[in-house]
This record gives sequence, structure tokens and C-alpha cells, in this order.
Amino acid sequence: MQRLLIISILLLQTLFLQGQFLQNISEEEKQKLSDRMFGHVSALAHDSMMGREAGTEGELKAMYYIAKQFKNAGLQPLPEKNYWIPFSFSEGYSYQSGSISFQNKEYSQNEYFLYLNPLVNYNFSGKTYFVGDGLNESDYKMLNSSFNKNAVIVIDINFSDTIDSATDQKYMPLLESAVAKATFINPEAVILVSSNVKKFPAIASINLDQARPNIPVICTGKTLSKKILKSDNSEIQSKCEFSKNEKTGYNVAAWIDNGKPTTIVFGAHYDHLGFGKSGSLSTDSAVHNGADDNASGTALMIELARILNESGINNHNYLFVAFGAEEKGLLGSKAFLNQKKHNLDCHQDKNELPEYCAQPDQMLQPE
Ligand SMILES: [Zn+2]
Repeated sequence: MQRLLIISILLLQTLFLQGQFLQNISEEEKQKLSDRMFGHVSALAHDSMMGREAGTEGELKAMYYIAKQFKNAGLQPLPEKNYWIPFSFSEGYSYQSGSISFQNKEYSQNEYFLYLNPLVNYNFSGKTYFVGDGLNESDYKMLNSSFNKNAVIVIDINFSDTIDSATDQKYMPLLESAVAKATFINPEAVILVSSNVKKFPAIASINLDQARPNIPVICTGKTLSKKILKSDNSEIQSKCEFSKNEKTGYNVAAWIDNGKPTTIVFGAHYDHLGFGKSGSLSTDSAVHNGADDNASGTALMIELARILNESGINNHNYLFVAFGAEEKGLLGSKAFLNQKKHNLDCHQDKNELPEYCAQPDQMLQPE
């Protein structure tokens, strides 16, 4: 933490030495600045922010904190009366209904099979390709990435050649490695069946972190398992109705409008990984505080905004944006660019676009 603050302050010094700002700053003032930045990082990386994942309450808390800092620093909100700008994004699917067609029969989701990865589209068709327990490279020898377009890999989760039963601790890691291997063959889907449901019953969930994303993985129950095991190299189809889960993320933006034709934009993302479900290097579900990714950068930006505002430097307009949903694929910054209504020249067109020039006292109070 301390090292990060020093780096940040060095950056501030670099930025301001030429602007004759920090060279005159006293040791006491430097300490105050350091304390303020430490305060921002501690607040944003606090457990109560729950890892600041976009679309969650943790993100809202962080958003209010940053908005409040911009307001306290005397900056104007952009573009409207609040400092926060919502944008919507979709994440994952909710499956309404689903079915598998196999040998002229329809099998419904939940009754005959389960979808195991929540983030993919389960509409596919292809031919079943049986790979046994799928643990060895040789199981896949007839497949390679150039001709697997219609392959639906079938893995038998009966691992009795290697272990006694599904209660063995080695079972899930073994199964996960087999499924991961199968997904890297790049098939249409991977289907799990069991030739020994007593010892190796159907599973309801699996860790797919090692697997290739976007390849559907399905586990079948006893009836469908039997049918699929009986006839290799048969046509299979899956159809599902799903709706995308719509979520809202927020950018937080404030600016110093000096009435100049040019605007310099400073940005830092403030969201992080929440409880680390995806994008984390750890498999544990725990608060990912994200002090260095990117509470520290956000703290630097807040202080830069405050210092610039106090300095009276007015060569340009200065815009500060704390971006949301960066960890989900730079969604906040993309949304910011796409929301064409940010008219940074609004001081020249006050009559046409009054709403973009609302005063800070009109903003809603953060709760
Ligand atoms: Zn990051």
C-alpha cells in the first residue's frame, strides 16, 4: 500500500513540477496529500465495498464515494445534474426453457439434463462423438480443431478404471480436466453421460475455470445417458430459450469548465472483481479488495482533480472520469464514448444544451 502511494505521489509530482505546483509544496502539505490518498484507497478497497463489481451494490457505494469527492473538490458534474452516468450491459443468460432432440425424441431441460455453464448460448447441433472417460489425449485422436465443427463430444463420467466412486476426492478434479480437454478440441458442445449411475451419478455443477469459455457443457440423467451411450455418431440438437441478464453500471464524471475549446480527459477505472467469480486468479470466493486495481489510480485522479481545480490552471477544460465495468471488458469507457450526448463545448451553446451545464447544487445527494 505504501509503495503504491509513493508511486502515485511521484506521478503527481511529475505532472505538476512543470506547472510550478508541487515544487513549492511544503513537507506538511505533502504529508496531507499522502494522507488523503491513503484515505481514498482505504475507503474504496474496504470490505464494505464488496470488491466494487459492476452491476452490484458494492459498485454503487464506490460510485457515491467518488461522486462525493468530486463534489467536495468543487468540480461540476457531467453531463447532467448528477456525477454518475448509467449505462446498461448484459451478463450471462437466464434459461427459460430448453430441450435436446435425439433420435426423433425431445428431452426437456431439468427433467432429462442440466446446463452446466451459465454464460453460453446452448443452441447447437452436431454428431455425437464418444471419447470414453476423455482423460487421455488418445481418446480424441480422431478429432482435431480443423474438422470439429459438428462434433458433440460425449464423455462417460464413469471413472471406475481410475477410482472407486464419485465420492473419491480425486473425482471432480479428474472430471474437470477431462471436460477442459474436450472443450479445447473446440466442439459444438460437451455432453456428460454415465454408464454407472450408481457410483457415478449425474452432476449438477462443475468448475469450468480450466475449460475453454463459450463451449456448452451439459450433464444428462439416467434415461438420456442410456440412449446416447447406445448410439455413437448420431445427430443431436439442443435448443433453448433464454434472456440476457441486463445490468446497470455507472461511470462517474466531473469537469472543470474553463470555457476553452479543448478538454483534457483523465480516466481511471474504479470497479474491481467483487467476490472473484470470474477474472480472478484465485478460486476462493472472497472479497477482492482491489487496492492496486484500481483504487490507487482512482485516488490519484480524485486528488489530481482537486489540485487542478484549486490551482486555477486554465489552459484547457479538464474532465475526470472514473470508469465502471472495466473488468468486464472496458464496458464503461466504451459506453462513455458511445453516449454521444457529452457535449464538452456546452459553455458555447448554453441555450441549446442547458441540461449539460447544470450546477453542482442541483445534483442529487449521494445516500
Ligand atoms: Zn483492472
